[in-house]
Amino acid sequence: MSGIVCSLTFIGMVFLADSLRSVHGILSVLEGGALYRQWQALASLIGLFLLGYAAFALLHWPRQSTVADVVVSMIFLAGGVFVWSVARLSFRTTRDVVRIAALERELTLDPLTGVFNRRFLDVKLEEEVFRARASGRSLSILIIDLDSFKRVNDTHGHMTGDLVLKHVGQVIAGVNGADRTVIRYGGEEFLVVAPGADEKAIEALANRIRQEIENRPLCLEDGGRITVTASFGGSTLNPDETVRDLLERADRALYDAKRNGRNQVCLSAA
Ligand code: GH3
Ligand code: MG
Ligand code: MG
Repeated sequence: MSGIVCSLTFIGMVFLADSLRSVHGILSVLEGGALYRQWQALASLIGLFLLGYAAFALLHWPRQSTVADVVVSMIFLAGGVFVWSVARLSFRTTRDVVRIAALERELTLDPLTGVFNRRFLDVKLEEEVFRARASGRSLSILIIDLDSFKRVNDTHGHMTGDLVLKHVGQVIAGVNGADRTVIRYGGEEFLVVAPGADEKAIEALANRIRQEIENRPLCLEDGGRITVTASFGGSTLNPDETVRDLLERADRALYDAKRNGRNQVCLSAA
């Protein structure tokens, strides 16, 4: 009988030990935080269970076991299998959730510049307009269009043009804090969504970005430098205005900035 008790307990231990592999897998995909600490605590608990199983088996090895001991060792085995199953399922679920989150993120990012793409804009702008209305806070947007960008491509080639776009995307993102969203709106156009910014604030922000773009040329590997400028059209949300109206007003203001000579900021009148 003691052979059966020890064998069942040992198999339970194997399941428990193997479940630690799954917990380790979960810990490797989690990046710190409360959940990470809770899984760490669970791993320690499994370790304690392992010690308990081992102590039970050692205590029973030399003596004759009763039917009750066999039942206990069967429960131990079932416990090990249960923990193993839950840990395995949790690992698979965590892996899938992390994969889906990464895919979702990829779907909303522009691969060249690393800022958000236009697909994200549709969701984001509707959301921000709704929030601005509900809270009564201001909301402004900026459309930024690089000046004479075709010439950059014609002079330096399309590949270098891509590097310039990437560089400008980073410059714009660098000026904007976490509460603002930078989107690649078109080929050489970017859009900034600035919740909380009124006309004065958006004008100041636009001029800061404009200066940053102008004063930060792209440094090439061969030592050359490419300086670009951009024109800005801005609009601030009016009560009862739709997302489309807001975008159209910013677009018209951008057109004014181009017509007035480029490298400048124009805001749409309310
Ligand atoms: P404007 O000051 O009036 O905006 O002049 P522009 O030359 O910037 O505007 P235009 O619309 O005539 O040309 C836009 C250029 O942007 C042409 C196109 O080849 C370039 N472009 C658009 N998307 C990309 C891209 O992904 N990579 C590169 N390298 N160029 C791009
Ligand atoms: Mg353009
Ligand atoms: Mg342009």
